[in-house]
Amino acid sequence: MALMISDECIACDACREECPNDAIEADDPFYVIDPDLCTECVGCYDEPNCIVVCPVDAIVLDPDNVENAEELRYKFEQLQGQE
Ligand code: SF4
Ligand code: SF4
Repeated sequence: MALMISDECIACDACREECPNDAIEADDPFYVIDPDLCTECVGCYDEPNCIVVCPVDAIVLDPDNVENAEELRYKFEQLQGQE
């Protein structure tokens, strides 16, 4: 499941550079996560790094982009292959 950023976001920029997949972009008024790039940090970290650093708990699961661990791992491997 990709993650998404809610309207709780205060645009602090703490998460953007912490994403190993460059999935987070600054947008107005809230930052956004590209669901095609977010792997929930599978392949890089034990837990979603953006959630760890967000000071206002604005990053939540995206119910429109549900993926299991195997799918997330496959997505990560596909992203690695594009580099
Ligand atoms: S969960 Fe990981 S891959 Fe997804 S947006 Fe957050 S930091 Fe990036
Ligand atoms: S860390 Fe949280 S509050 Fe800061 S830009 Fe990211 S989502 Fe928004």
